[in-house]
Amino acid sequence: MSTSAITAAPALVEMRGLTRHYDSRRGLWGRLTGNPGVLVQAVNGVDLDIRRGETVGLIGESGCGKSTLGRVAIRLHEPTAGSVRFDGTDLATLSPLELKRLRRRLQIIFQDPYASLNPRKSVLELLATPLRLHALASGPELADRVGAMLQAVGLGPEHLRRYPHQFSGGQRQRIGIARALMLEPDFVVCDEPVSALDVSVQAQIIGLLGRLKRELGLTYLFISHDIAVIGHVSDRIAVMYLGEIVEEGPRDAVLGDPRHPYTQSLLASVPRIEGTPGGARRQRLQGDLPSPVAPPPGCKFHPRCPVAVARCAREAPATTAVRPGHRVRCHLVT
Ligand code: SF4
Repeated sequence: MSTSAITAAPALVEMRGLTRHYDSRRGLWGRLTGNPGVLVQAVNGVDLDIRRGETVGLIGESGCGKSTLGRVAIRLHEPTAGSVRFDGTDLATLSPLELKRLRRRLQIIFQDPYASLNPRKSVLELLATPLRLHALASGPELADRVGAMLQAVGLGPEHLRRYPHQFSGGQRQRIGIARALMLEPDFVVCDEPVSALDVSVQAQIIGLLGRLKRELGLTYLFISHDIAVIGHVSDRIAVMYLGEIVEEGPRDAVLGDPRHPYTQSLLASVPRIEGTPGGARRQRLQGDLPSPVAPPPGCKFHPRCPVAVARCAREAPATTAVRPGHRVRCHLVT
């Protein structure tokens, strides 16, 4: 889909005020731990639209809430507040059965394919199970669909009877991609899909994801902590800091004219990204991400912000549109 066609397309995914807090005793996945319970404010009031056919790149440091947002967006986790509309339907209004049917269209590719693939299942079983669970194919048709998908991700029939440990990291990620696409989804959350791979293999997997997106008409939320990867794959970029989107806009606007001090700091740590205008010299990011258990008051970035003013520690900034489709959350941006 061309850039202008994407810009005109309606939102496939609409997040409004999306919030996810969880008790640290239960962890993100709801299991009890022995730790004393405190509230982890992983995602706070996120508004984000993802249009059909586009890739929105979600960038931020480890622990900023990116993966949690991705999981809440496809309802792998319940939101604490806010809503997600998918293709016009508010996911909160669906019965468990309706949600199960819709879930076929919402898939995720995980960072670590080895951890996400059952080591006791062959590739054939791994890829056939989603089709069986959703009663979408059986017998020869099921085998044909598994074979076709394996070919689409660059593997062959000789791999069908092998197990995850018999593959390289890149091949395992190809299997993870094939599994996510078996149900012919519309929207795929790619959660750090190349972070665990060697650089040379990263390029192959990014190329594969791009080709599959074009051929299958997919829409991606692509999560990464690597601004160079995000710059390469995205149509639009959303920058996340401690559970909030602090800047969002078209790729070239965010990379070529970043307006939030956090985005500017992220870009200061990488050479100019191919195909984008160069920016002024900027200050590198100092210090660590504060804990989402006790986020700073006011602007959450203020303890690390090189241009913070007194107001920043008291008052949370509102979001300002600096140009059509380019929004920034900072007191100094008007
Ligand atoms: Fe920095 Fe203040 Fe802007 Fe936050 S609101 S990014 S602390 S200048």
